[in-house]
Amino acid sequence: MYNNLPDKPHDECGVFGFYNNDNFDLAALTRDALYGLQHRGQESVGLTIIKDGEPYSVKDLGIVSNVLTDAALSKLPEGGKISVGHVRYTTLDYLERAATQPLVMRYIEGSLAIAHNGSLTNFAEIRTGLEKGGAIFQSNSHAEVIGYTIATNRVGKENFEQAVQKTMDDLKGAYSAVISSPEKLYGVRDPHGFKPLCLGKLKNSYIIASESCVIDTLGGEFIRDIDPGEVVMIGEDGISSFHCATDKFTSLCLFEYVYLARPDSVIDGVNVNEARHRAGRLLFEENPVDADIVCGVPDSGLDAAQGFAEASGITYATTFIKNKYIGRTSKGVGNEKKEKLLRMRLNVLKNVVDGKRVVIIDDSIIHGNTSAHIVKLLKEAGAKEVHMRISSPEFVYPCFFGVDLPDEKDLISNKLSVEELREKIGADSLSFLSIEGLHKIAEGCKIKLCDGCFSGIYYADLPKIIFEDRFANKIKK
Ligand code: SF4
Repeated sequence: MYNNLPDKPHDECGVFGFYNNDNFDLAALTRDALYGLQHRGQESVGLTIIKDGEPYSVKDLGIVSNVLTDAALSKLPEGGKISVGHVRYTTLDYLERAATQPLVMRYIEGSLAIAHNGSLTNFAEIRTGLEKGGAIFQSNSHAEVIGYTIATNRVGKENFEQAVQKTMDDLKGAYSAVISSPEKLYGVRDPHGFKPLCLGKLKNSYIIASESCVIDTLGGEFIRDIDPGEVVMIGEDGISSFHCATDKFTSLCLFEYVYLARPDSVIDGVNVNEARHRAGRLLFEENPVDADIVCGVPDSGLDAAQGFAEASGITYATTFIKNKYIGRTSKGVGNEKKEKLLRMRLNVLKNVVDGKRVVIIDDSIIHGNTSAHIVKLLKEAGAKEVHMRISSPEFVYPCFFGVDLPDEKDLISNKLSVEELREKIGADSLSFLSIEGLHKIAEGCKIKLCDGCFSGIYYADLPKIIFEDRFANKIKK
């Protein structure tokens, strides 16, 4: 889960859709829902309302509270049948205003709005093929390629459903998407099921969302997860679905349970908060240590720290106070500035730490700088010993499916052994959860799981070509 700290992996996006069979204020409701997904992306946000088949949008770079203001929403028409919402984090090192979603495109049958989470592994091939046929793109967003492919496939097909089905045959990689046609709302999950997507109900209306916490936020009722390879359709005639070929190697991202998702979500049958507790218990079983207190790096280390405390009998203590009002660090910020930002974000309760042997739990280590800062803060506050435990294995391979990890060569665990890394961050001991342990945290998950960035084993096609846009109009972060 997003925790305002630098040096963390990030998901690419969160998606939301609503089919209004009641009389909800669609714009306000969609904004409320997007607050519940803000942890999945803080770089741009948007919503589109479909009324009488026509789309009306508000979107821009920024977070929900800055972009979807009362003044901005007041320009949208009242009522409306369908809404599509999106929060975005990009893995690119620049921002594109044109890539803010939902993307609205006019095609042969009217308008479609699309909100996408994930990363296509054949993006370069599809995009280049479309460009060679004369297609014009406004952004480097994968959503634009998905929308364009649906629009192209709609020509010669009987209906939108057939176009979506054909598009799922064309796309490779990770995508959970919410799409509107003029009359219907669609939820689409790729055959591997990399990204979560679920279905809920609010009175007589329907919700599609990246995470179940949004359904709770709205006061709705969780119906079920959308299956890998499934398309759910909601229209005047009710709800229906069909399955495209589900890959036998389904691959839900395990890092959703460690960090990306909100702890109050349930994904494919596993409660995220319980998964993190389990990670803490397993961490102690695999790597026990004698200490006086155990604490977590807020927010995603807290549940695992409680699990570690329960398993070890070591007292759980709140040690870090987080300032929630400071935004995310931009990429490329130097170490000195990062340290300053970290001090502003996290302050240590010296009276809790002073003279103690401390176990500190964090969810991952990417570059190692943040871990070194955290150890330093604890030692400056008087900790006698600092034992760091990480509730995921070492990141040693890239992610091709929409989680922002640095190049392999920049991952610290590719450069240093655990002992060398311990020395670099200044901890008295350091250990990671094993890959076997990582799978155990998601015990009961209804589908198979991806651990590619930890194991180097991927059960999906990897990109053959990387797309480079030489003409992009880049707004530097
Ligand atoms: S490679 Fe890692 S981050 Fe990417 S989907 Fe798989 S588990 Fe998640």
